[in-house]
Amino acid sequence: VFNQALVRRRSSVSPHSTDMTFRTERRVPRLGVMLVGWGGNNGTTVTAAVLANKLGLTWTTKTGEKKANYYGSLLQASTVCLGSGLHGEVNVLLRDLLPMVHPNDIVFDGWDISSMDLGRAMERAQVLDWSLQEQLRPHMCHIKPRPSIYIPDFIAANQESRADNVLTGSMSQQVEQIKADIRDFRQSSCVDKVIVLWTANTERFCDIIPGVNDTAENLLASIQAGVEEVSPSTLFAVASIQEGCAYINGSPQNTFVPGAVELAVQQGVFIGGDDLKSGQTKIKSVLVDFLISTGIKPTSIVSYNHLGNNDGKNLMAPQQFRSKEISKSNVLDDMVRSNPVLYQPGEKPDHCVVIKYVPFVGDSKRAMDEYTSEIMMGGLNTLVLHNTCEDSLLASPILLDLVILTELCQRITVRPEGDEDFQSFHSVLALLAFLCKAPLVPPGSPVVNAFFSQRACIENIMRACLGLPPQNHMLLEHKLQ
Ligand code: NAD
Repeated sequence: VFNQALVRRRSSVSPHSTDMTFRTERRVPRLGVMLVGWGGNNGTTVTAAVLANKLGLTWTTKTGEKKANYYGSLLQASTVCLGSGLHGEVNVLLRDLLPMVHPNDIVFDGWDISSMDLGRAMERAQVLDWSLQEQLRPHMCHIKPRPSIYIPDFIAANQESRADNVLTGSMSQQVEQIKADIRDFRQSSCVDKVIVLWTANTERFCDIIPGVNDTAENLLASIQAGVEEVSPSTLFAVASIQEGCAYINGSPQNTFVPGAVELAVQQGVFIGGDDLKSGQTKIKSVLVDFLISTGIKPTSIVSYNHLGNNDGKNLMAPQQFRSKEISKSNVLDDMVRSNPVLYQPGEKPDHCVVIKYVPFVGDSKRAMDEYTSEIMMGGLNTLVLHNTCEDSLLASPILLDLVILTELCQRITVRPEGDEDFQSFHSVLALLAFLCKAPLVPPGSPVVNAFFSQRACIENIMRACLGLPPQNHMLLEHKLQ
């Protein structure tokens, strides 16, 4: 007996093709990246890691000598198969497919509500081995984050003691200061382009209020009037967009209220996010993809996390936890929707996420998951995972991939057959989905969370830029006599 709904729903499809011409500007600019939350665990770790790579540092731990690298970066450490040649498969690094910025050449700057210099902030983060920190400290102790916008209502009250480096003045004056900072950095460091990335604390969600943040015009008027329901992250997004700089949100909150999205579209500036996909959610987007695509039906997914870094401390507050919970919750949707044999319309697996703050484990976040699935003839399959995440070391390469991919996309234009002009990708840069827990997509576009589809999207667009067909994995050359 077949699923009646599926049998009844007959589909009729006819192939349709549109030729597109891809054009990639080959000159790689000098890239400047401004991090909001520069003095935090991610901010200091990514800065330290780039410095360590640039200087070719090595250091000794109890298990031997370690060498700086970019493991965990899609672009720097993973490969693409170009095809089979006389000597077997030809695999190249993704970063070698197209001209793109090398992380070692990125110039960093940024803001933090904490005035601590980056050398001490790296120590506070407790992420890197001590002997590596000792080598890096002389290079980092002179760097101080710029004062930032602090509105206590948006992050947990337990962050207040850090906030000794904050801007004053009206909301619009503070936005003007951020814009001046971007211009100052651009000039003083001689970078060609600046990208701004939020890796500061998770904020509470904003209410979407008609007349306040629902349109670009209303949002700008609200900033002028200093309306309370505009978050610091949205203020940074507005400043960045107005300076023509792409803005990426590495945290879960809804920075991109409709007015901010509209402003980005109006100005033709890229925005991307939300929330870095580094640990538990990354595994989830792999495992659920695997289960559903093999015809197994996940029915319950329960995830516990405990972590002891400042991010975890901030997430103790209910409103900030809620932002994270929302961002982690929708990861199954597209995969569930794609399979009407396993799931009736509206049906979803039970999905629960718990996060607890345990100071002792520091940045070494523990993620424990139980996946229960229905298999053939009423059987059950239960998978249990324990994942030690080393959070900032997983997140840092993702931060680098986000800015490097965004910069590359700024140099790609596409002309569909019949059009006169080349056009850029939509301002909401959905290509970044692979790197984000809750991918931001243009209004009306499908959200793709499935890991393998997201990776294929990046790989195939890069292949298209080279004039190569999409990777189809048919390997026909090995399947014929
Ligand atoms: P962190 O608490 O160590 O760093 C955040 C920094 O932001 C702090 O130094 C804080 O002083 C600063 N800050 C807070 N509000 C600010 C403001 N308005 N302006 C400027 N600076 C401000 O946290 P982290 O571990 O570096 O994580 C940063 C963000 O990335 C968090 O929101 C976290 O949820 C998100 N994230 C991290 C990971 C990961 O694996 N590390 C994964 C996904 C998302």
